[in-house]
Amino acid sequence: DPNIIARPDHVVSRKQISSAALKVLYGLKDAGYTAYLAGGGVRDLLLKRNPKDFDVATNATPEEVKKTFRNCRLIGRRFRLAHVYFRNEIIEVATFRAPSPEPETCGENCHCVSEEGLVLRDNVFGTPEEDALRRDFTINALFYNIADFSIIDYADGLKDLQQKIIRVIGDPDVRFTEDPVRILRALRFAATLGFDIEPAAKKAAREQAERLEGCSSSRLYEEILKLMHCGKAEQVFMLSCELQVFEHLFPEIGAWLKAPDGEGKTHWMQKTFKQIDRWRHAGIDINPALLFALFFGEYHEWVAEHLMKSENLSHAEALTEATHRHIGQLCDRIRIPKAVTAHIASIMAAQPRFLKMSGKNTNRMLRHRDFLDAFLYFKFAARTTGRHEKELIWWDEQRKNR
Ligand code: ATP
Ligand code: MG
Repeated sequence: DPNIIARPDHVVSRKQISSAALKVLYGLKDAGYTAYLAGGGVRDLLLKRNPKDFDVATNATPEEVKKTFRNCRLIGRRFRLAHVYFRNEIIEVATFRAPSPEPETCGENCHCVSEEGLVLRDNVFGTPEEDALRRDFTINALFYNIADFSIIDYADGLKDLQQKIIRVIGDPDVRFTEDPVRILRALRFAATLGFDIEPAAKKAAREQAERLEGCSSSRLYEEILKLMHCGKAEQVFMLSCELQVFEHLFPEIGAWLKAPDGEGKTHWMQKTFKQIDRWRHAGIDINPALLFALFFGEYHEWVAEHLMKSENLSHAEALTEATHRHIGQLCDRIRIPKAVTAHIASIMAAQPRFLKMSGKNTNRMLRHRDFLDAFLYFKFAARTTGRHEKELIWWDEQRKNR
């Protein structure tokens, strides 16, 4: 039986829930369905943090949800979800789900997956308890019940919320094997919430991290962007090194960090992520290309230095070559969109040109659409190393006088 915490005994109030989410919860309840606020929204409200979005879980099927709301669309093939549209908000409504069997593990006569690979209805929909227990961490499995304003806790998540612990629901090895992206989610929640990852989960993360190499490359890209954008990228970086997760995501950089004088490089990385976090807290939006350029740039410079000697290339040529090689290898595992890789290459290629303070190419540089990102990169590298102060001042003036 779940733990049920009545309204007077917890801090979640309707005032903190968006009017759109309340409309959906009440709409479902008034139509006779069970309707819970679920996932990160409940977790954040209990922590007195501002939720990013509100997700609703219900016993209504997607078709029934669609009949309940005019402003509703169904999305997804494998898992049908309902999106209810409001002026500034979309509320995602999911029918309670049972853990879905993995197609590979099913026997020959299994009927849980259709010929097209679609998971059939019976296996998708489940009870509220099953829905709670298929979630990743105990703190992400809490429900807020609109019928009586209580919190429903099937996974002992409240205790972990109070003790600031990230605990996997079930066996961490099994859950990380099922979906290795959960390892990255654990890092993100630990860093952003200031929680500790429970020891068994840390051990499992270390042991299963290599499975990240077989993950969907587009999911990895999305999750890595979230890690870099979360405002605690420095901590995520340190934690990912500690748990030996980093080297499975970025093996080339991982090996570089472990080479002689790795400490200095690790320190550089830390500074980079600290700066990214500072920008984030100042509300400055850094695009993915600049984020990755800052992240990879020092490694690309290091590779370029070797290429200059071994292949007798100019600095500019070597830097371009180093960038292309690394990003090319990386993209097999992490699907960085083409537009972003091109933009990273352009930021890197511009760097040697900042060392020339002469008229001819200045205007072309200033007019280039990636100039500002390239300049921010140059500024960060110059400030961090204490080099090129003269050039920095000169380019800053050119930029302002334009
Ligand atoms: P955020 O603040 O990033 O939105 P969140 O916890 O809401 O955090 P979402 O990605 O929005 O994360 O997912 C919503 C909920 O779905 C989670 O709280 C969790 O219960 C469940 N969930 C998401 N991803 C997974 C996963 N990979 N495995 C199991 N459950 C998951
Ligand atoms: Mg969310």
